[in-house]
Amino acid sequence: MTCDDVRRTIATLALVVIGSSLLGAQGAKYAPDPRQPNDEEYTRKIREYTTEPFFTSPLVDHLPASKTVPTPSVVLGDVAGAPGILPYSADVHDYMRRLEKASRRARVFSIGKSEEGREMIAVAIADEAILAKYDENRARLARLADPRSFNLDDAEAERVMATTVPVYYITGALHAGETGSPTALMELAYRLVADESPYIRAIRRSVITLITPVVEVDGRDRQVDVYKWHLAHPKDNWPQVVYWGKYVVHDNNRDGMGVKLALTRNVIGAFMDHKAQVLHDLHESVPYLYDNTVGDGPYNAWIDPILADEWQMLGYHNMGELTRFGMPGAFAHGDFDTWTPGYLMFIAAMRNGVSRLYETFGNGGADTVERTLSPREYARTWYRQNPPLPKAKWSQRNNNNYQQTGLLTALSYYGENSRTFLRNFYLKAKRSVLKAKTEGPAAYVFPADDPRPGAQAELLRVLQRQGCEVSRATAAFTVDVPAKRKAKDGKDDEAAPGAAAAGTATDAKPAEKKKEGKRTEPRQFPAGSYLVRMDQPYSRLADALLDHQYWSPNDPQKYPYDDTGWTFGELFNVQVVRVIDPRVLDAAMQKLAGEVVAPGGIDGTGPVMIVNHDADPRLMALRYRFKDASFDVAEEPFEAAGRKFNRGSFIIRDADGDTLRKTAIELGLKVQAVAAAPGVRTHAIGAPRIGYVHTWLSTQDEGWWRLELDALGVPYDYISTQVVAATRDLRARYDVILFPPVGRGGPQAIVAGLPMWGNPLPWKTTPETPNIGKIDSTDDMRPGLGWAGLANLEAFVRAGGLLVTTDDTSDLAVSYGFAPGVSITRPQRLKAPGTVVRAKFVDPASPIAYGYGDDLSVYTSNGPIFTLSNTLGGRWGRRASEEPERPTGRGTADDPDQPQGRPPARDVPEEPKAEKWQALPLTDEQLRNPVYVIPPAQRPRVVLRYGDARDLLVSGLLDGGSELAQHAAVIDVPIEKGHVLLFSPNPVWRGETQGSYFLVFNAILNFDQLGSGRTLDAR
Ligand SMILES: [Zn+2]
Repeated sequence: MTCDDVRRTIATLALVVIGSSLLGAQGAKYAPDPRQPNDEEYTRKIREYTTEPFFTSPLVDHLPASKTVPTPSVVLGDVAGAPGILPYSADVHDYMRRLEKASRRARVFSIGKSEEGREMIAVAIADEAILAKYDENRARLARLADPRSFNLDDAEAERVMATTVPVYYITGALHAGETGSPTALMELAYRLVADESPYIRAIRRSVITLITPVVEVDGRDRQVDVYKWHLAHPKDNWPQVVYWGKYVVHDNNRDGMGVKLALTRNVIGAFMDHKAQVLHDLHESVPYLYDNTVGDGPYNAWIDPILADEWQMLGYHNMGELTRFGMPGAFAHGDFDTWTPGYLMFIAAMRNGVSRLYETFGNGGADTVERTLSPREYARTWYRQNPPLPKAKWSQRNNNNYQQTGLLTALSYYGENSRTFLRNFYLKAKRSVLKAKTEGPAAYVFPADDPRPGAQAELLRVLQRQGCEVSRATAAFTVDVPAKRKAKDGKDDEAAPGAAAAGTATDAKPAEKKKEGKRTEPRQFPAGSYLVRMDQPYSRLADALLDHQYWSPNDPQKYPYDDTGWTFGELFNVQVVRVIDPRVLDAAMQKLAGEVVAPGGIDGTGPVMIVNHDADPRLMALRYRFKDASFDVAEEPFEAAGRKFNRGSFIIRDADGDTLRKTAIELGLKVQAVAAAPGVRTHAIGAPRIGYVHTWLSTQDEGWWRLELDALGVPYDYISTQVVAATRDLRARYDVILFPPVGRGGPQAIVAGLPMWGNPLPWKTTPETPNIGKIDSTDDMRPGLGWAGLANLEAFVRAGGLLVTTDDTSDLAVSYGFAPGVSITRPQRLKAPGTVVRAKFVDPASPIAYGYGDDLSVYTSNGPIFTLSNTLGGRWGRRASEEPERPTGRGTADDPDQPQGRPPARDVPEEPKAEKWQALPLTDEQLRNPVYVIPPAQRPRVVLRYGDARDLLVSGLLDGGSELAQHAAVIDVPIEKGHVLLFSPNPVWRGETQGSYFLVFNAILNFDQLGSGRTLDAR
């Protein structure tokens, strides 16, 4: 079991500037303090568990003894990295607290709790004199972190730096399956506290080491349960740890932008509280130590170039030290690109610090085993001259040796050069503040008249949670913004709201755009508009989230490591204006002290309450808070009390006024009270019962959906595919079944489950595995949805239920006949690896489109390409070729042929034509005996389609986009009394796509009224 952080181990060639020897040329040499004896027993075991003499270093091949400080064995019962031993998170924390008790060189801070209530800690270790004045040191670091406090005065910064010790923050066990770092960090902490060698003493005096030994505390405890189960059942296969955190698995390292997980909030909190300069995150995957601090291109485009140099300095020096120790397989350059800022380590990169990450070699547990590598893993390459061995016995102790040796040499180098790094820290903060006037933009503006105030407030809160400052204009102001491009028809081209507002409409060719970009026009923003100024210390973070991304299809990097686009204004469906004009900084404004809240409450009087539908996710919370009140939704836009209301707006009766007022204030929703209901056609919506389906294959991608439902207080039953298979009458229990994407194995695997050979794989709470189960349980994870599950799902839909599918579960629905008239075309060239694309509503009367405008930016990761037909299967299901070529004959290419010896044909039938998102109209021939013709009311209804090829890309990498362009993106397929709703884009992803959540929520709320507003084909 290894980390898939490194998916490819062959790096593409790139020119890399090697800066390793710029500073601290030789590094310090380790020599033990002759007066300090070794802990003989501990040292003997270290050597016993290390499988080869070259899998260790003089730094960690022994353990200096201490009369007062306990070694990790006090908790582990053996040495760190011993076979068969993995401590729970509480044991690790227990050890750190014993260290704190035994020494004034260690201090433990509680940094928050996980979703399941487990504690997270950070341990600060330094010389006792430094720790005694920890708060004073922290106050000095805070000044350097925000140099506005002393007017960016370099001389003052130098004075502050002279007495300040930097903080190097190390995090372990973020990925639960990567098990080595907690014991490595326990022993590292001991060494830093107890080793009296000059080498370690120098580290202690020059740098504060801050350690969070277990980041994913929930996942760690489950992983230890599974490992112990494995030890107790040595002959059996063991279950994969299908849940790490409560919500997501591997993606806990992709939450750095949306900040949805407790662990991300806690690490951001610790990083900012302790004013750290480095965040060094420990992972395990490839042999033996890949320091991906250097990584590969493209680098994130918003970082200060100083940071890129620091990556090179630290990465190459660090691996050089291991090479000099003779440790094979230590390398710095590799295939990780540093484009997206969503990784946990990037908390530092975006806050003027240094992000770092190690991938060491783990066995996924503490067994010592013979490991055989693939040729590409042991190949000598230009960046890995001393590669790993083709075959070696590998132990958790070896892994711990590599981790500790890497960290100690990094700390030593950082400490030796602490002045330089501190100066860089200050300089980066200063340049972040100057950014508004140097490279720009000056600010991002969020107009007060945005039609989606709730979504706007939520986006601003995300920035605030990140530590960004938000201000509010106290008066209207006018600044120059890029001029709107004139469309061919002379009207302003609005494109997508965000893109047009930002003046970066993506349908212009790059050259055209450059020209356009120079033209500006004044724009007035109303009082109350929000501003994120770029003259603040975390300006780069806000810029990285709010700007657009462009990844060239010709980039030398052909395998993006993660998402390539994420532009938050687009994905939140919020207007964000990038303003270069520095006059924006002079607008009258106030910095907000608290969280941004959208205005909420009740205006007017009367018994009928109206709430405008603006696709704000909090409307979903409102419906479920007032489960028993009667809610109608308007099928057309209307006016009331002098205000305009969108299609889908709520008309509420018999909700308790006081409670509604309080709730509306809390949720930031404006309610209009009126004397009588408006005269508009409506239908009632209830609070539908939701079944939420997951597999036992992977819970990675579905977790993001569950998290949002929980946050909004929407109740659901969380059921596995096995429960679906065992429940004959799903319709009796549920109105709606959500089947979010699985992300593993495809439709066949969802049906088949895990292979049925071998032993059962239990996932349940037992005395042996107390941390497992809880979220969901099964006696055996292997069986999948099966044919019975498919049949039950189909019966559910036919009986009037709504099944919502996305990406691979949409593929499942299409493959197994749940979506008559829809097929999936396999892509030939399309590359959209986590890309923001434009979509257009083509049926605004569908309840699924309620609250939206004409366009919407959506997230897709090579989502399925849907094609529609009005017939089922056979040759009638195929699309005619777009431009039928004329056959060989008389005349020019555009002329009709002319058979000789008879008059020209008069009745040449027109070939049926349709847009790419539509089905071809039926021909007379097809209707002669329409066995396969789908009746008009049962045909798929396209609600949203992908944009045209020329303006499909909003942000990220898109290649071969014409394969996806114009195809249906969201399709409502009626089946008898029920519906299947197919998504190609993923509407709920990493807390970043809030603008598209309501596509799903509309479907839920209107599950029994989805036919509303439909125009049927005439035949
Ligand atoms: Zn990992």
